[in-house]
Amino acid sequence: MVLSTQTSATTLDGAALRRDFPILNQPQPEGRPPLAFLDSAASSQKPEQVIQAIDTYYRTINANIHRGVYELSEAATAAYEAARQTMATFLNARQARECIFVRNTTEAINLAANAWGRSNLTANDRIVLTVMEHHSNLVPWHMLREEIGFSIDYIPLTDDHQLDMTVYAQLLEQKPKLVGFAHVSNAIGALNDVAAMTRMAHDAGAAVLVDAAQSVPHMPVDVQALDVDFLALSGHKMVGPMGSGVLYGKRELLEAMPPYMGGGSMIRKVTLDGTTFADIPARFEAGTPAVADQVGLAAAADYLTAVGLEAIREHELELLDYAMEQLPSVPHLTMYGPEDLSKRSGVISFTLGSIHPHDVAAILDGENIAVRAGHHCAQPLMAALGVVATTRASFYMYNTRDDVDRLVAGLHKANEVFGQV
Ligand code: PLP
Repeated sequence: MVLSTQTSATTLDGAALRRDFPILNQPQPEGRPPLAFLDSAASSQKPEQVIQAIDTYYRTINANIHRGVYELSEAATAAYEAARQTMATFLNARQARECIFVRNTTEAINLAANAWGRSNLTANDRIVLTVMEHHSNLVPWHMLREEIGFSIDYIPLTDDHQLDMTVYAQLLEQKPKLVGFAHVSNAIGALNDVAAMTRMAHDAGAAVLVDAAQSVPHMPVDVQALDVDFLALSGHKMVGPMGSGVLYGKRELLEAMPPYMGGGSMIRKVTLDGTTFADIPARFEAGTPAVADQVGLAAAADYLTAVGLEAIREHELELLDYAMEQLPSVPHLTMYGPEDLSKRSGVISFTLGSIHPHDVAAILDGENIAVRAGHHCAQPLMAALGVVATTRASFYMYNTRDDVDRLVAGLHKANEVFGQV
């Protein structure tokens, strides 16, 4: 097992950070242990600082934005646009207008697929995706393919559950128009080399879309350093509110794209004969946006920056390393994902002998340990692994070695309850 070595990260105290997250400190019924929350890959918990930002917004700033001439509306507009600037700085985008506010990663990818895909893909084109994608980076492309008729090739997995770079290089020889892939797999935690894959794609003339739902919350992500063309993220996975998110796109690509949805706020002029459209980012933000949620997202980005993304990554790798030492003591456990921990995030996906993953999760819930079980919206990946479902434990900054110990004890208990010795 190889443990990645970070140089500049400072040590992070998961137990101390936990105090920022009210939900993790709720009193439990008599005899029930504290919540071991190991499901942050599905959605993270929210710190006081984010909850406060939303509360303050609604108590002191709330009004519809961009069209009011009164002070409160101007304050709300300023808060919304400041949130955009915060997200641009957080991702190191060149300009704030390269960050389009959306509800989540799913909407971000649908926006890119519909606006970029519709104006760039024809029936003779190819795109490349991977077998480890979340459904949200598969289904929008399948739907568009139904209409346009382009071809989709998929990068398969190696035996070590990483993307097969040899096949990727071969697929690029067919000159795809776009390569789309997850930075980190939500289902097995595989961490893909975005910079290298992007360089290869660009050399072959393809644009690159990265699904960063599982990376941006857990490690530094710099869109200029990675040179990606599009990058999608969800606020709710990075200690921000549900209903917040960003599609980053390079300015020149966004400016050349037609709108995705039509309505108020995204127009320059409307007559009965037709419509002309606003510049970016407004062109892609039809209707009243989730202002308070995007303000909360900016507070989340500030929180992550204050804690330190390198420290978060280091902490999660340390927990992963510890878990990999402890988990082999559990009989019948099969784990999925790369062996090399430097090629993983803090996600552990496993099966436990013949016990159904849902039953494993239910036994763990009995111990107040929250994990996820199922196909993780990655059915093609499950098929490639030869399983229908797994149980998944995922770490974040507020997890501790104690959570790992409880997970291991819970899995021993599941074996006992199901008579697996
Ligand atoms: N992509 C990945 C890798 C994910 O893990 C998820 C959510 O689990 C998504 C996309 C979809 O995110 P959302 O449901 O916030 O749109």
